[in-house]
Amino acid sequence: MSKPMPLVAGNWKMHGLRSSVGELARLAEGLAGISLQGRCEVMICPPATLLAQFADQSAGTLVRIGAQNCHAEISGAHTGELAAEMLADAGASAIIVGHSERRREQGETSGDVAAKAAAAHRAGLSAIVCVGETQGEREAGRTLAVVTEQLSRSLPDGARPANSIIAYEPVWAIGSGLTPGPGDIAEVHRAIRTLLTGRMGEEEGGSVRILYGGSVKPANASQLMAIANVDGALVGGASLKASDMLGIVAAYAR
Ligand code: PEP
Repeated sequence: MSKPMPLVAGNWKMHGLRSSVGELARLAEGLAGISLQGRCEVMICPPATLLAQFADQSAGTLVRIGAQNCHAEISGAHTGELAAEMLADAGASAIIVGHSERRREQGETSGDVAAKAAAAHRAGLSAIVCVGETQGEREAGRTLAVVTEQLSRSLPDGARPANSIIAYEPVWAIGSGLTPGPGDIAEVHRAIRTLLTGRMGEEEGGSVRILYGGSVKPANASQLMAIANVDGALVGGASLKASDMLGIVAAYAR
Protein backbone atom coordinates (compact mmCIF):
# COMPACT_ATOMS: atom_id res chain seq x y z
CA MET A 1 0.00 0.00 0.00
CA SER A 2 1.53 3.36 -1.01
CA LYS A 3 1.56 5.97 1.74
CA PRO A 4 -0.40 9.02 0.59
CA MET A 5 1.43 12.28 -0.11
CA PRO A 6 0.34 14.69 2.64
CA LEU A 7 -1.72 17.75 1.70
CA VAL A 8 -2.07 21.00 3.61
CA ALA A 9 -5.08 22.85 2.18
CA GLY A 10 -6.15 26.34 3.25
CA ASN A 11 -9.82 27.30 3.17
CA TRP A 12 -10.06 31.08 3.00
CA LYS A 13 -13.88 30.98 3.32
CA MET A 14 -15.43 34.47 2.71
CA HIS A 15 -12.15 36.35 3.18
CA GLY A 16 -9.87 38.03 0.68
CA LEU A 17 -9.77 40.75 -1.95
CA ARG A 18 -7.65 41.07 -5.07
CA SER A 19 -5.03 42.81 -2.94
CA SER A 20 -4.65 39.56 -0.92
CA VAL A 21 -2.62 38.09 -3.76
CA GLY A 22 0.49 39.32 -1.90
CA GLU A 23 -0.19 36.71 0.80
CA LEU A 24 -0.21 34.01 -1.88
CA ALA A 25 3.08 35.30 -3.26
CA ARG A 26 4.62 35.21 0.24
CA LEU A 27 3.43 31.62 0.69
CA ALA A 28 4.90 30.55 -2.67
CA GLU A 29 8.17 32.28 -1.87
CA GLY A 30 8.38 30.65 1.55
CA LEU A 31 7.67 27.19 0.09
CA ALA A 32 10.41 27.62 -2.49
CA GLY A 33 12.79 28.22 0.42
CA ILE A 34 12.00 24.99 2.30
CA SER A 35 12.37 22.49 -0.57
CA LEU A 36 9.16 20.54 0.00
CA GLN A 37 9.26 18.74 -3.32
CA GLY A 38 7.88 15.25 -2.93
CA ARG A 39 7.06 15.60 0.75
CA CYS A 40 3.85 17.61 0.94
CA GLU A 41 1.37 19.33 -1.36
CA VAL A 42 0.02 22.77 -0.52
CA MET A 43 -3.28 24.24 -1.68
CA ILE A 44 -5.15 27.50 -1.14
CA CYS A 45 -8.93 27.64 -1.69
CA PRO A 46 -9.78 31.35 -2.04
CA PRO A 47 -13.25 32.78 -2.66
CA ALA A 48 -14.43 32.18 -6.25
CA THR A 49 -13.82 35.83 -7.15
CA LEU A 50 -10.07 35.27 -6.70
CA LEU A 51 -9.71 31.83 -8.30
CA ALA A 52 -8.49 32.85 -11.74
CA GLN A 53 -6.14 35.53 -10.39
CA PHE A 54 -4.70 33.14 -7.78
CA ALA A 55 -4.35 30.34 -10.35
CA ASP A 56 -2.42 32.62 -12.71
CA GLN A 57 -0.28 33.96 -9.89
CA SER A 58 0.58 30.50 -8.54
CA ALA A 59 1.50 28.96 -11.91
CA GLY A 60 5.00 27.51 -11.67
CA THR A 61 4.99 27.56 -7.85
CA LEU A 62 4.34 24.78 -5.31
CA VAL A 63 0.88 26.16 -4.46
CA ARG A 64 -2.20 24.59 -6.04
CA ILE A 65 -5.55 26.35 -6.09
CA GLY A 66 -8.92 24.93 -5.07
CA ALA A 67 -12.53 26.09 -4.83
CA GLN A 68 -14.88 26.03 -1.83
CA ASN A 69 -18.12 24.79 -3.38
CA CYS A 70 -19.81 23.98 -6.70
CA HIS A 71 -23.22 23.24 -8.16
CA ALA A 72 -23.93 19.63 -9.06
CA GLU A 73 -25.02 20.38 -12.62
CA ILE A 74 -22.85 21.24 -15.59
CA SER A 75 -24.84 24.35 -16.66
CA GLY A 76 -28.35 25.75 -16.49
CA ALA A 77 -30.68 28.31 -14.96
CA HIS A 78 -29.11 28.48 -11.50
CA THR A 79 -28.53 32.15 -10.78
CA GLY A 80 -25.43 32.81 -8.72
CA GLU A 81 -24.13 29.23 -8.91
CA LEU A 82 -20.86 27.91 -10.37
CA ALA A 83 -20.39 24.57 -12.16
CA ALA A 84 -17.35 22.44 -11.41
CA GLU A 85 -16.33 22.88 -15.05
CA MET A 86 -16.27 26.68 -14.57
CA LEU A 87 -14.06 26.30 -11.50
CA ALA A 88 -11.72 24.01 -13.47
CA ASP A 89 -11.65 26.61 -16.25
CA ALA A 90 -10.69 29.27 -13.69
CA GLY A 91 -7.73 27.15 -12.59
CA ALA A 92 -8.99 25.08 -9.62
CA SER A 93 -7.62 21.58 -9.22
CA ALA A 94 -9.94 20.60 -6.35
CA ILE A 95 -13.24 21.60 -4.77
CA ILE A 96 -14.14 21.47 -1.08
CA VAL A 97 -17.61 19.91 -0.73
CA GLY A 98 -19.78 19.42 2.33
CA HIS A 99 -18.02 21.85 4.65
CA SER A 100 -19.98 21.95 7.92
CA GLU A 101 -20.71 25.66 7.41
CA ARG A 102 -22.54 24.81 4.18
CA ARG A 103 -24.26 21.79 5.71
CA ARG A 104 -25.50 24.09 8.48
CA GLU A 105 -26.12 27.42 6.71
CA GLN A 106 -27.28 26.11 3.32
CA GLY A 107 -28.89 22.91 4.61
CA GLU A 108 -26.72 20.71 2.38
CA THR A 109 -27.40 17.02 2.91
CA SER A 110 -24.89 14.23 2.40
CA GLY A 111 -26.81 13.38 -0.80
CA ASP A 112 -26.20 16.93 -2.06
CA VAL A 113 -22.53 16.58 -1.12
CA ALA A 114 -22.19 13.31 -3.07
CA ALA A 115 -23.71 15.00 -6.14
CA LYS A 116 -21.25 17.89 -5.84
CA ALA A 117 -18.32 15.51 -5.38
CA ALA A 118 -19.45 13.63 -8.50
CA ALA A 119 -19.59 16.99 -10.34
CA ALA A 120 -16.00 17.69 -9.30
CA HIS A 121 -14.97 14.28 -10.68
CA ARG A 122 -16.90 14.90 -13.91
CA ALA A 123 -14.87 18.10 -14.35
CA GLY A 124 -11.60 16.23 -13.75
CA LEU A 125 -11.08 17.75 -10.30
CA SER A 126 -10.54 16.26 -6.85
CA ALA A 127 -13.30 16.55 -4.27
CA ILE A 128 -12.29 17.36 -0.69
CA VAL A 129 -15.22 15.79 1.14
CA CYS A 130 -15.78 17.19 4.66
CA VAL A 131 -17.39 15.28 7.52
CA GLY A 132 -17.55 15.85 11.26
CA GLU A 133 -19.67 15.64 14.37
CA THR A 134 -21.18 18.48 16.42
CA GLN A 135 -20.41 18.98 20.09
CA GLY A 136 -23.77 17.45 21.03
CA GLU A 137 -23.15 14.38 18.88
CA ARG A 138 -19.72 13.89 20.48
CA GLU A 139 -21.16 14.25 23.98
CA ALA A 140 -23.83 11.70 23.11
CA GLY A 141 -21.09 9.22 22.12
CA ARG A 142 -22.24 9.28 18.47
CA THR A 143 -19.05 10.58 16.81
CA LEU A 144 -18.10 7.43 14.91
CA ALA A 145 -21.67 6.69 13.84
CA VAL A 146 -22.22 10.26 12.60
CA VAL A 147 -18.91 10.53 10.75
CA THR A 148 -19.12 7.14 9.04
CA GLU A 149 -22.74 7.66 8.02
CA GLN A 150 -21.97 11.15 6.63
CA LEU A 151 -19.01 9.79 4.73
CA SER A 152 -20.71 6.74 3.27
CA ARG A 153 -23.56 8.95 1.97
CA SER A 154 -21.28 11.81 0.81
CA LEU A 155 -18.86 9.74 -1.29
CA PRO A 156 -20.06 9.13 -4.84
CA ASP A 157 -19.53 5.79 -6.61
CA GLY A 158 -16.56 6.98 -8.67
CA ALA A 159 -14.52 8.06 -5.61
CA ARG A 160 -10.88 6.94 -5.91
CA PRO A 161 -7.57 8.03 -4.31
CA ALA A 162 -6.76 10.18 -7.35
CA ASN A 163 -9.99 12.18 -7.19
CA SER A 164 -11.10 12.17 -3.56
CA ILE A 165 -9.70 13.53 -0.31
CA ILE A 166 -11.52 13.25 3.02
CA ALA A 167 -11.41 16.00 5.64
CA TYR A 168 -12.44 15.06 9.17
CA GLU A 169 -13.47 18.32 10.82
CA PRO A 170 -15.22 18.15 14.18
CA VAL A 171 -17.70 21.04 13.95
CA TRP A 172 -16.91 22.15 17.51
CA ALA A 173 -13.19 22.38 16.72
CA ILE A 174 -13.61 24.76 13.77
CA GLY A 175 -12.51 28.27 14.67
CA SER A 176 -12.75 27.52 18.40
CA GLY A 177 -9.11 26.93 19.30
CA LEU A 178 -10.15 23.47 20.57
CA THR A 179 -9.00 20.16 19.12
CA PRO A 180 -9.85 16.58 20.03
CA GLY A 181 -7.14 14.61 21.83
CA PRO A 182 -4.72 12.64 19.64
CA GLY A 183 -6.41 9.38 20.63
CA ASP A 184 -9.83 10.70 19.60
CA ILE A 185 -8.52 11.86 16.23
CA ALA A 186 -6.76 8.53 15.68
CA GLU A 187 -9.99 6.66 16.44
CA VAL A 188 -12.03 8.64 13.90
CA HIS A 189 -9.35 8.51 11.19
CA ARG A 190 -9.06 4.73 11.72
CA ALA A 191 -12.82 4.36 11.29
CA ILE A 192 -12.68 6.46 8.10
CA ARG A 193 -9.81 4.32 6.78
CA THR A 194 -11.76 1.16 7.53
CA LEU A 195 -14.77 2.52 5.64
CA LEU A 196 -12.56 3.47 2.67
CA THR A 197 -10.79 0.11 2.48
CA GLY A 198 -14.16 -1.63 2.82
CA ARG A 199 -15.43 0.30 -0.20
CA MET A 200 -12.35 0.46 -2.41
CA GLY A 201 -10.16 -2.41 -1.24
CA GLU A 202 -6.95 -2.30 0.83
CA GLU A 203 -4.71 -0.73 -1.80
CA GLU A 204 -6.99 2.10 -2.97
CA GLY A 205 -8.72 2.71 0.37
CA GLY A 206 -5.29 2.89 2.00
CA SER A 207 -4.16 5.55 -0.45
CA VAL A 208 -6.98 8.08 -0.01
CA ARG A 209 -5.78 11.10 1.93
CA ILE A 210 -7.59 11.80 5.18
CA LEU A 211 -7.02 15.36 6.40
CA TYR A 212 -7.70 16.62 9.89
CA GLY A 213 -9.30 20.08 10.17
CA GLY A 214 -10.27 22.23 13.13
CA SER A 215 -8.03 24.84 14.80
CA VAL A 216 -4.81 23.61 13.18
CA LYS A 217 -2.01 26.09 13.85
CA PRO A 218 1.79 26.12 13.63
CA ALA A 219 1.94 25.33 17.36
CA ASN A 220 -0.08 22.09 17.16
CA ALA A 221 0.64 20.98 13.57
CA SER A 222 3.51 18.59 14.30
CA GLN A 223 1.57 16.78 17.01
CA LEU A 224 -1.61 16.53 14.91
CA MET A 225 0.17 15.48 11.73
CA ALA A 226 2.03 12.68 13.54
CA ILE A 227 -1.23 10.84 14.34
CA ALA A 228 -1.80 7.58 12.43
CA ASN A 229 -3.92 8.01 9.27
CA VAL A 230 -3.66 11.81 9.39
CA ASP A 231 -2.43 12.67 5.89
CA GLY A 232 -2.47 16.43 6.16
CA ALA A 233 -4.66 19.30 7.27
CA LEU A 234 -7.57 21.44 6.15
CA VAL A 235 -6.84 24.84 7.65
CA GLY A 236 -9.25 27.76 8.04
CA GLY A 237 -8.18 30.85 9.97
CA ALA A 238 -4.46 30.11 10.01
CA SER A 239 -4.36 29.75 6.21
CA LEU A 240 -5.02 33.47 5.75
CA LYS A 241 -1.47 34.32 6.76
CA ALA A 242 1.42 32.93 4.73
CA SER A 243 3.63 32.77 7.83
CA ASP A 244 1.12 30.57 9.70
CA MET A 245 0.55 28.35 6.67
CA LEU A 246 4.32 27.93 6.32
CA GLY A 247 4.55 27.09 10.01
CA ILE A 248 1.99 24.30 9.50
CA VAL A 249 3.64 23.00 6.35
CA ALA A 250 6.92 22.89 8.27
CA ALA A 251 5.51 19.86 10.13
CA TYR A 252 6.31 17.97 6.88
CA ALA A 253 9.49 19.73 5.90
CA ARG A 254 11.88 17.99 8.24
C1 PEP B 1 -12.33 24.99 8.51
O1 PEP B 1 -13.27 25.76 8.55
O2 PEP B 1 -12.24 24.18 7.58
C2 PEP B 1 -11.34 25.07 9.57
C3 PEP B 1 -10.63 24.01 9.79
O3 PEP B 1 -11.24 26.26 10.27
P1 PEP B 1 -10.19 26.62 11.44
O4 PEP B 1 -8.84 26.11 10.99
O5 PEP B 1 -10.24 28.11 11.51
O6 PEP B 1 -10.66 25.95 12.66
